[in-house]
Amino acid sequence: MKWPHGNRCAAALTFDEDGECVAFGYDRANAQRRLSLQSETTYGPDVGLPRVLDLLESREIHATFFVPGYTAERHREIVADVARRGHELAHHGYLHERPDLLEANEEEEALRKGTEIIQQITGRRPRGYRAPSWEMSARTPGLLKQNGLIYDSSLMGDDEPYHIQAEGHERLLEIPVHWTNDDWVHFGFCSSPELGNGISSPSKVYDTWSEEFLGYYQFGGCFVLTMHPFVIGRPSRIRLLDRMIGLIKGTEGVWIATLEEIADYVTQTGQGRFRPRADMRLEEEA
Ligand code: ZN
Repeated sequence: MKWPHGNRCAAALTFDEDGECVAFGYDRANAQRRLSLQSETTYGPDVGLPRVLDLLESREIHATFFVPGYTAERHREIVADVARRGHELAHHGYLHERPDLLEANEEEEALRKGTEIIQQITGRRPRGYRAPSWEMSARTPGLLKQNGLIYDSSLMGDDEPYHIQAEGHERLLEIPVHWTNDDWVHFGFCSSPELGNGISSPSKVYDTWSEEFLGYYQFGGCFVLTMHPFVIGRPSRIRLLDRMIGLIKGTEGVWIATLEEIADYVTQTGQGRFRPRADMRLEEEA
C-alpha cells in the first residue's frame, strides 16, 4: 500500500475505553456487588484516561477512542474531553456485548444506542466501529454500512487495510488489529474468575511491540496498537507507551494518524485488497 507524503508505513494509537463494562464482562452476575472489581475498571476513565490524554497532548498525537455507549453515559465529561482535544470517538457497542452472541434485533439495538450517545456527545455520528472483544457477527459488516459507518477495526486478515464483503456487492473497509499488539493480552489479570495471561513486565512488552512496529515498517503496513486506559494508564505502563511513542515518532517515514484519517485516505486513493469471507462449509454441508 502507498502511504501519503512518501511515508513508508502508517501507525495508529487506539484506546478501547470500556470502563465498567469490563467488570460486567468478567463477572456479569456479581459485578454490581463487587466493589474492588468495579474500582479496577473505573480507574480507566477516572485515572488512566486523563493520563493518556495528557501524554498524547504533550506528544502532539491524535488517537482513536472506542467507547461503549454505557461507559460514555457514565463518564460523559471525560469522554467529551476526548473529543474536545481533537481525538476520534468511535463505536464500541452499548454494553460491550459481543455481536457474535447476539440476536439480529439485539445487535441492531446496541448499534443504535451506541451511535446515539456518541452523536449526543460529539455532535456527529461515529464513522468507525470496533466489535467488542473483536468478535464480529456475519451480520455486522452489512449493519455497519446501513448505519453509515465507513470502517471496522476488529479483524486480523492482513497487516494493512483491506475490504470485506458487507451485503450484496457492498464492501466495508477493515483496518486490521492483532492480539500481539493489545495491552490486555500482556497485562490482563483477574483473580476471580481466573482470566488473563498474568502480569508482564513493561520492558518485555516493549520488546514485543517495538519489534512488531519495526516489522510493519519494513513491510509497509499499518501498525495499530490497541490499549485500554485501565491497563495502559497505570504508572509503569504509561511510561511504556511514552517509550513506544518515542520510537514511532523517532522513526523517519511513519504516518501517525487516526483510524478515521487512514480510512478516508485508503478510500480516496482506491487502495486495499478485497478479501472475501473464507468459505468454511464443512464437508457434510457441501
Ligand atoms: Zn473493548
